[in-house]
Amino acid sequence: MIILLDYDGTLTPIVPKPREAKIDPERKAFLERLSKRHKLGIVTGRSFDSFREVFGDIPETIYVATSHGAKVYKGEKLIEDFTKCQLPDLKELEDRLKNLKGTFLEKKDGCFALHYREYEGDERKIKEIFYDFVKKNPPKKIIEGKKILEAIYGDFDKGTAVENILKVVDRKREEGLLYIGDDTTDLYALRKAKELGGRAIFVGTDKPPEADLLLKDVDDVYEFLATLNETADHK
Ligand SMILES: [Mg+2]
Repeated sequence: MIILLDYDGTLTPIVPKPREAKIDPERKAFLERLSKRHKLGIVTGRSFDSFREVFGDIPETIYVATSHGAKVYKGEKLIEDFTKCQLPDLKELEDRLKNLKGTFLEKKDGCFALHYREYEGDERKIKEIFYDFVKKNPPKKIIEGKKILEAIYGDFDKGTAVENILKVVDRKREEGLLYIGDDTTDLYALRKAKELGGRAIFVGTDKPPEADLLLKDVDDVYEFLATLNETADHK
């Protein structure tokens, strides 16, 4: 089976500071074991460096699609780069956010994210600044997630990330596929997984139409994955 998993909110709980969303070592060891039984990929909106900061060394049996699928890695090795676009100059946006404590900009491959998990003021102000900027520098896609606004300038999203990982892992005919994610950006991936005959699982309290199963939280995700670890090997 091919198991594709989002990271924040799926494999680790959402925390106020994204850089503190470290993976639990036992859970990481479990994921590594799982990746030896099934093909396992993590699909994250994070850049490679930001992902590595919270996940640590990446075992070579785990695939990672970073920046919403702009790049695909096998372990720590970059194997495909789908970025093919440039970011606009973010200086003006940086300047406007400078005095808004609890916000920060993250530059990634072909996209950027405005985080505001720790911002205590009026969220409308953040949105106004973000939308002012993207109106002048229109991206291909805008995604509003959990305390995060993202602008994607390339032709990728988590749906194309699923396709790109599948190309790389060489999905066999009839090979099962599963995607688990918790945020708006994952809806692209859930749709794609279903379209490709896979199962789409959402983590949260309300099941979106894109999903066919709901898990309530991160603990639930690991319980579910543990049942897959008992099923037959893919090889
Ligand atoms: Mg997430």
